Amino acid sequence: MQPTIERYTTNAGRRLYRLPLEVFPNFIGYAYLLVEDERTVLIDAGSVMPQSVDALREHVETVREEYGEPVSLETLSLVLITHGHIDHFSGLSVLQEEIRAPIIVHDLDIGILHDYRERLVMASKALAVFLQRAGVSEERRARLLEMYLSVKSLVTPIRGVRRLSEAGDLLGAITPIHAPGHCPGQVCLRIDDILISADHILPRTTPHLAPESITPYTGLGHYFAALETIQHAARDVRLVLGGHEEPLDDLVGRIEQIRRSHERKLERFYNLCSHPRTIAELSLEHYGKRQGYDIILALTEAGAHVEYLYQRGYLTLANVDDVEREPNPVLLYRRA
Ligand SMILES: [Zn+2]
Ligand SMILES: [Zn+2]
Repeated sequence: MQPTIERYTTNAGRRLYRLPLEVFPNFIGYAYLLVEDERTVLIDAGSVMPQSVDALREHVETVREEYGEPVSLETLSLVLITHGHIDHFSGLSVLQEEIRAPIIVHDLDIGILHDYRERLVMASKALAVFLQRAGVSEERRARLLEMYLSVKSLVTPIRGVRRLSEAGDLLGAITPIHAPGHCPGQVCLRIDDILISADHILPRTTPHLAPESITPYTGLGHYFAALETIQHAARDVRLVLGGHEEPLDDLVGRIEQIRRSHERKLERFYNLCSHPRTIAELSLEHYGKRQGYDIILALTEAGAHVEYLYQRGYLTLANVDDVEREPNPVLLYRRA
């Protein structure tokens, strides 16, 4: 069953509407509409896919007509983007024509909104190096990179975006908490006793992580640190609303589960490195054979865990002489 609009009220009486959007085929993401007094804030904007953009327009209309709130896309006070992933911001490629409100995103993701294509092309260069060092064959690398870049033409630059650090009074009752790891500039948003957790903490899925050798401020080290930050800043929240999946009430318990799941993975990768291993081999052994875009997700997720272990001296290189000789050799990791 498709989720419908849900209304939540904070302990200070602010109304928060959860708007379900089919951001990719058969994949639901949420935008939120915060209503307080005369102010209305749109939190995230779904994807550029027509079904997502159409649904967002319809939902805003429903909130006005069926819930009696004074909202429209033209009269929003503010648009706040939780992070620079296309399922959260790229709806603005279409909707920016109608929206007059300031659009705000964390400083570390503003470049993505300004010029998604440029950032994707830059990341693809680092991804190419990562894949080569991971031991992925040349032919497969070419296919994976083509897949990685295939979305670039859909997302057009978003104009007039402002940095979160310069937002001043615009945020009103919203307290942003920087939570990098899954995305460099991701923010969770505290609104009274509710936390909007974006993709940082979800009830069922452990959010995808890629190594920061591809994009700085991503990776497991930043992610763990941000879990800690959120645990302290939001331990007393009553309700957690994510960018996907259902609401969550036990924030601290869920953080603990996610942390343990990564620790188990770290232990498994560490143990697999009793013999020298490439990241491609580790990914295959841990995640099994994957198809399509999932291959990129599995390789980069394995890469994030290996990077974490290597950064902290748990792993070492088994072929440093080759690495010294060749420009971009396959890296073999083993336990230190
Ligand atoms: Zn995301
Ligand atoms: Zn997402």
